[in-house]
Amino acid sequence: NLPYADGDFYSFEALLSQKERDRLEEIRQFLRTEVKPHATGWWNDSTFPKDLIPKLAELDVMSPVRRQGYSNLFAGLMHAEFTRADTSIATFMGVHDGLFTGSIEELASPEQQEAWLPDIYSMKKIGAFGLTEPLGGSDVAGGTRTTARREGDSWIINGAKRWIGNATFSDWVVIYARDLADNQVKGFLVDTTLKGYSATKIENKIALRTVENADITLENLVVHDDFHLKGANSFKDTNKVLKVTRLSVAWQAVGQQLAAFDVARRYAVERHQFGRPLASFQLVQQQLVEMLGNTVSSLGMMVRLAQLEDEGQAKDEQSALAKAFTTARMRETVAMGRSLLGGNGIVTDYEMAKIFSDAEAVYSYEGTHEINTLVTGRAITGIAAFV
Ligand code: FAD
Repeated sequence: NLPYADGDFYSFEALLSQKERDRLEEIRQFLRTEVKPHATGWWNDSTFPKDLIPKLAELDVMSPVRRQGYSNLFAGLMHAEFTRADTSIATFMGVHDGLFTGSIEELASPEQQEAWLPDIYSMKKIGAFGLTEPLGGSDVAGGTRTTARREGDSWIINGAKRWIGNATFSDWVVIYARDLADNQVKGFLVDTTLKGYSATKIENKIALRTVENADITLENLVVHDDFHLKGANSFKDTNKVLKVTRLSVAWQAVGQQLAAFDVARRYAVERHQFGRPLASFQLVQQQLVEMLGNTVSSLGMMVRLAQLEDEGQAKDEQSALAKAFTTARMRETVAMGRSLLGGNGIVTDYEMAKIFSDAEAVYSYEGTHEINTLVTGRAITGIAAFV
């Protein structure tokens, strides 16, 4: 047993209540048995394990803050633990619970929430979040080309979406489309069995291979006005969801680093060269300590941000800097971890290659590193450099 086996070098978990600590341990136990042993196989096969969904439902992890009353620190640490076990499964949850459920919780009317949330929380219905388009990625605000046209009590939606996680098998997807009447981006809950909806899996990914991302085509899709999210009437509304989910991605960057540190440290202690463990060489210890420093500085930032969230004080630019900073540290940490495994660092048998590859998706989604840097730059200079 190695010292600091849990990786919690500054005892941040002591800030949780006893109930939260117990619950986190229960979730860790689930991840150790139901996710971690299978994660590399799923990743190599590039197929989402649908039989995991009822088990996740039974674990009852949906909407930990709003529904279950846990702190934002608990929710963040839980997301980091999911990622530490497998970034693809964490991303599946990030899409279903974060982006999709977050859209409903934040932007649907009380009546809509009452009708839809029970099936969403129990995971009877799985959701996806359709914002990015083939021609509108970083510039989603101005670049949304998917249109919604009001006709009587319905909307006719036409367009295309790209990269939409879970959308190959989800029951529902929230589609963001530009209203032709007022030019504003609005949100709609779309049933994926509707005529005019089609989703094609994006193949040959080098990251998050277990997550099924899709290209979606929407062709004269008819959605009743009851399915227009009543609070989703401009991109500013959509941004309320992204502000929160961006933080989950920063927590993923923490989880990725914890995973890389776990694997690299164990390998360095067990593997021998020149008749000694790798961990006995000063240059190797230095790399492990740099990995640890990156991990705990990312974690420390996120802990403070979670407290600000609990107080309702977290700002957009604080989420943006957190995403930019933690994912940059993550990229350094996983690269050091990969090199510490030498040749074994490039085969998925040793886990590190999966962690290293997945980092590239975490670095780019939910606002790339550059865009989150520019959002922060705008906040500290008062000058927008990207519009
Ligand atoms: P682009 O916007 O084309 O950017 C390309 C490069 O140019 C980037 O480096 C970017 O930083 C840089 N760049 C662009 N504009 C500027 C500028 N003004 N200044 C400086 N640099 C700039 N979207 C969803 O809606 N739902 C999902 O479920 C979803 N899941 C995803 C899962 C994965 C695995 C991936 C890879 C993406 C997912 N996305 C999803 C989309 C993701 O959010 C976008 O990929 C991301 O926002 C970047 O957009 P883009 O890929 O079009 O890149």
